[in-house]
Amino acid sequence: MYRIGIGHDTHRLVEGRPLVLGGVRVESERGAEGHSDADALAHALTDAVLGAMCEGDIGVHFPDKDPRWQGADSLQLLARVMWLANERGYRVVNADATVLIERPRLRPYVSEMREKLAEVLGVEITCVSVKAKSGEGLDAVGEGLAVTAHAVVLLERT
Ligand SMILES: [Zn+2]
Repeated sequence: MYRIGIGHDTHRLVEGRPLVLGGVRVESERGAEGHSDADALAHALTDAVLGAMCEGDIGVHFPDKDPRWQGADSLQLLARVMWLANERGYRVVNADATVLIERPRLRPYVSEMREKLAEVLGVEITCVSVKAKSGEGLDAVGEGLAVTAHAVVLLERT
């Protein structure tokens, strides 16, 4: 049996914060604001896995107000959700994601992101796609005010 899930996440970009995407620290003048490490890519993937299981969203499992998730490594949050998926007999078939950010260019970081995410998702790197796009100077992403990520995950019950 197959189950598909979709995830979406946006964080405001501000000075004085690190920019972490897919568990990779990206050199940037501005970083993502948020309670955890504000990793929009990891959060979108986490929501996609939860969505595939009809298990609500990341905010239900890791509430903003809970001090345990203050500055949390979002790959660890994804790992917890993968543990839940594995408990239910699901494994990931593949994942596809798009990150939208005006700058910096993410291409040099993409293979490391895929590697880290594949490890947490329990699949080969060839089963994890990360695409990077700019906002073409339009909207909040284009103005450099936000980073957004979209993700789709396919689960199979083994
Ligand atoms: Zn987020």
